[in-house]
Amino acid sequence: HANRKGGTVSNHQILEALSGNLCRCTGYRPIIDAGKDAMVKEWTPDTEHPAASMVPESSESALSQFHRNNITMEATGGARYDAPVSLDDLRSLRRTYPDSRLVAGSTDLALEITQQLSSFDHLVSVERITELKGCIREGDELVIGAATTYQEFRASLCDLWPAFDAMLDRLGSLQIRNRGTLGGNIANASPIGDMPPPLIALNAFL
Ligand SMILES: Cc1cc2nc3c(=O)[nH]c(=O)nc-3n(C[C@H](O)[C@H](O)[C@H](O)COP(=O)(O)OP(=O)(O)OC[C@H]3O[C@@H](n4cnc5c(N)ncnc54)[C@H](O)[C@@H]3O)c2cc1C
Repeated sequence: HANRKGGTVSNHQILEALSGNLCRCTGYRPIIDAGKDAMVKEWTPDTEHPAASMVPESSESALSQFHRNNITMEATGGARYDAPVSLDDLRSLRRTYPDSRLVAGSTDLALEITQQLSSFDHLVSVERITELKGCIREGDELVIGAATTYQEFRASLCDLWPAFDAMLDRLGSLQIRNRGTLGGNIANASPIGDMPPPLIALNAFL
């Protein structure tokens, strides 16, 4: 990806990107070598299969609509998924559907499906709610929105408390840190959740 964007990639970045992949056949070294090999080759757009190499303009405008509007999907059998874009919309959905289940990055919730064979009739996503995204620095304090992912709040958090940098390197993998949120980590209330102990030590409050 970096190659296509005209950038260069360090060994550390390659290892970080691969950290969430488990390879059971060839081992990691050949994969890393192949990645490095690809880096030195010139990349040319795939004109035979343009859909694979570029997003058409119509899709870009459809995607920007997607970011602005509430989404509701209903499956046959009655299952439903809502992704509101504001707290007011979220509150109204929760009032109407008190039994719905909140979901953010789904890195914990999905385990309830794969490990406990749970199923959910109605999921309401918080990850597109503007008020729950991002970090605001207020003096010595940092306000982190519940739906903010590790990658999104990492720089601001480490700026104030650099020790988090080494810790976050070990939290899940890059893929998990790209999806998982602080709100999900706290609300999941796992006894092995990594964020509550340092946040308690810092006198954080909800
Ligand atoms: C491979 C793998 C590795 C992992 N490694 C680690 C690790 O090293 N350390 C660690 O601590 N965790 C780890 N986790 C767990 C998980 O990634 C984190 O806890 C993550 O922060 C959960 O956030 P999420 O957005 O994915 O939550 P979700 O899975 O979307 O939600 C988790 C729970 O919180 C609720 N919830 C979500 N958002 C809100 C909200 N805003 N308000 C109220 N309730 C909400 C959901 O209903 C659900 O019950 C790992 C998971 C996987 C799959």
